[in-house]
Parts: sequence; C-alpha cells; structure tokens
Amino acid sequence: MSTNLISSYKKLMEKTKDIIVFASSEAIVHWDMETMMPPKAISLRSQQLSLLSRLEHQMSTSPEIGKLIQEITHSKDYDKLDAIQKRNVYLIKKHYDEQTKLPEELVAETAKQQAITIDTWKKAKAAKNYNMFKPELEKLLELRKKAAEILMEVKETATPYDALIDIFEPKMTAKEITRVFNELREGLVSILKKCEKAPNQPDTSILQRKIPIDIQRKIAVALSEAVGYDVTSKTAGGRIDETEHPFTTGYYDDVRITTHYFEEMFASSIFSVLHEAGHAMYEQNLNPEWMYQPVGNACSSGFHESQSRMIENIVGRSREFWTYFLPKLKELAGKTLADIALDKFVHAINQVKPSKIRVEADEVTYGLHIIVRFNIERDLFANKCTVKELPEIWNQRYKDYLGVKIENDSEGVMQDTHWASGYFGYFPSYALGNIYSGQILEVMNRDLPNWKTQLTKGNFKETKQWLIKNVHAHGNLFDPADLIKKITGKELTVKPYLSYLNEKYSKLYGF
Ligand code: ZN
Repeated sequence: MSTNLISSYKKLMEKTKDIIVFASSEAIVHWDMETMMPPKAISLRSQQLSLLSRLEHQMSTSPEIGKLIQEITHSKDYDKLDAIQKRNVYLIKKHYDEQTKLPEELVAETAKQQAITIDTWKKAKAAKNYNMFKPELEKLLELRKKAAEILMEVKETATPYDALIDIFEPKMTAKEITRVFNELREGLVSILKKCEKAPNQPDTSILQRKIPIDIQRKIAVALSEAVGYDVTSKTAGGRIDETEHPFTTGYYDDVRITTHYFEEMFASSIFSVLHEAGHAMYEQNLNPEWMYQPVGNACSSGFHESQSRMIENIVGRSREFWTYFLPKLKELAGKTLADIALDKFVHAINQVKPSKIRVEADEVTYGLHIIVRFNIERDLFANKCTVKELPEIWNQRYKDYLGVKIENDSEGVMQDTHWASGYFGYFPSYALGNIYSGQILEVMNRDLPNWKTQLTKGNFKETKQWLIKNVHAHGNLFDPADLIKKITGKELTVKPYLSYLNEKYSKLYGF
C-alpha cells in the first residue's frame, strides 16, 4: 500500500475520532437537558445545542475531510484497503456528502427549533393542549421537510420520507416497510383475536399495588444487574436517571439510561429499565477495537430496538426470567407482593389488551401502534395530511386499528417525544426491531438450546456473550439488510417473530 494512501487514511481517521468525541460530548449536554437542567435554562440551552451542532456540522464538512476522501477513493491502491477500512471510508463519505449538502443555517435552525419544540411539547402535554404544541411542530416539520428534500437527492431515494428512514435504517424504504408491516398487521390481529377469545384471562390488579419510588429505584438497579448492565461497580459504564420519557444515550464506556417511576404502576419502570438496558448493552459491547471509528457504531435504530426489545420482552417477560427474579422482587417490595404466584404474575405482565399508549403496550398490540405512526408519517411527508389534522387522524386510526377511543391529545398524538424531537422516520425501527429480534431468537435457540434453563438460575452471561459475538460485535460493518442475513442466513421476514408470539401466547392464554 502506498505511503500516501496510508497517511491519508490515518489523517481521515484522526479527524473522524475528533468528530465522534465531539458528538459524544453533545450527547451529554442533551442528557443533562432531559435529566438535570433547571427550568430557567431552556433558552440558554437551546443556544448551546445550536452552537454545538453547528460546530459538529463544520467539523464533519470541513474541506480537508473532502480532500482526504478524494485522495483515498481515487488512489490507485484503494483496493488494497481491507473490508473494515473500506467500510469506514464509505460511511465517512456518505455522511460527508449528506452534510455538505445541508446548509449550516438549516442545521443550526433545526437544532434550536428541536429544543424549543421539545420544551413546548412537555408543557402542552401537561396541559392537554395540542394547539399550544401545533405551531412549534409545524415549524419543525417544515425544517425536516427541507432537509428530507435535500437528502433525497444525495441518498438517491425515491421519496423525501425514504431519505429520513435511511438515517435510522440505511437502505430501507417505505415500500419495503409497507410490505412487511401488512404481513405483520395481519399476524398480530389474528393473535390478538385469539387472546381476546381465550378462556384464560390474566388478573392484572396485582400490578396496581403501590410500591414506593425509592424501592422501585432499588428494583431498577437489581434488574440491570440481572441482565448484565453495570450501574454500581467501581468500573461501571452506566447509570440510571429519571425523565418523563425513558431513553438511552452514550458511547462505549459511558452509556446512560433513564426511566420513569409510577408509584401505582411498578411494572412500567421494570420494563423500561430492561428495554433501555438492552440498548445500553448493545452500545457498550460494540467491537472495542473499532472505538472512534464509524464501523464501531451501532448498525441501525432497528437493530438497536431488536436488542432492547429482546431484553425487555423475549428475556424480561419470560416465565424463565421471573422464575429467578420474582423472589428477588418480592424481597425488595416487602409485604406488598408476598402472595403473588409465578404463573399469575407472568400472565399479568403479558396481558394482551389494545391500549392508547405505545410505551405501555403489550408485545402483540405494540406493532399496531407503530403501523399507525408509520402510515401517518408517510402521509405527512407526501403532503397528504397536515399538522392541524393530526389529532383527528390519529384518533380515527386508533379506533380502526386498535378499537380504542382517545379522550385527549396527551394520551393521543402528543404521547411520544419523537415528532417533537424532529425524529420523523424513526418509528418504523421499533417494529423492524421486533422483526429482527424474532429472526435472531430463532438462531439463538438453535445455537444455545439451554439459554432459557440458564435464565431460570439467573445465569444470563452466556446469552449475553452470544448476543455480543453474533450481533453487537458486528457494529456498523454491514447495512441492516446484510447484517440480518449474516446473522440468520435469511432475508427480512416476519415469520419467526409471529411464531414466537403464537407459541408464547397460546401457552399463556390456552388457545
Ligand atoms: Zn427503544
């Protein structure tokens, strides 16, 4: 390999490292805004975030990066780079080409508007007042539409919405999502109907027993430890804080999660902690040799969700996990849960019931919440509906898809933070994550036939190692469609996920 190529590649990777470290600092400022920031700071914070994002934009679009990319891709020795180096160059070039096309002003304005829209969303949600939220959402949507139009050309996608999907799920399209979601919807509705008609119905009143928040905090730590997310040791790379909406943020050695405790809904924080711990462990266990390189990032949001929903549902809502953890929960909760039998508890946490709130939804109806959002986003970006019409459309779809009546917009269109954050195109990732997790589970069952028996004994180590080796360690070496094929040998298919659900719920409900 020529010394020129080696030195250009080295320089490019040094610049990239700076950008990655810078972005990780930005993430901490975001985290602080959500967890610790005093209310008065919002205007200052929106300026801080705007400046940081402008600087990051400048760093990743600097002409020197463009020059280095040119030198590398035009070098006669380019083919001597290995697969990992080539992937790094590809990912840097993709990001560079997109970012250089986005005007700095648009990027800064979007970051500022995001902070304002999130803040307004919080207030409007508390006041159950969509009209308060609407003008800020309109502004943010216009900014995202502008960006989507620009990105569509660079990414060569068929529609602006596809360009946004590509940010979270590279190379995925609304057309392909529509295809798998149609099959998913059919399968989910069929299982839902069987559950509704089944003889065994759960008693969920046990989940309304009051557990003080300080005890729930201890439960959250114990759960994290049970699945291997370290938040307590001297070498811990994680921590748990409290926010309105749970999330995960961080990079390799510092990956934090948040949750929300409800005194009369203790299961809510249990499953949000497991969910976010799944995200955090994926991020912490990306290949350490690739730290500070683009290839050392997560594959996609859908893969992220596959890992969070694996820990939350496939592991965290299994009879095997609670065989081990229920005695611990009882010990922590004192007398409150002392009389609860394992089977009753497992059925209660797996109740299938159409509901209004996505984050509280069960595994079977969850996908339907996502399909509603995906259809609305697709229409918004195709200019088939407006921000003003959102509440009405939302409520109608919830009636049609889930048969529930939305009483106010806080439990309707304003329930999620995504649109307020400008994350249009993200929602499909959740359901894609479920689909991936079903495919991954099928292979895991074959490779580790004993993993569930181990789980009853509180031994999750081997399973975690399997996930690290087969999923996490691949980082961003492949696009999602190639990664799922690499792991499972198959293309994207909903069948394994639907058979996992069918098998699990037929046992629970007796159909
Ligand atoms: Zn998630």
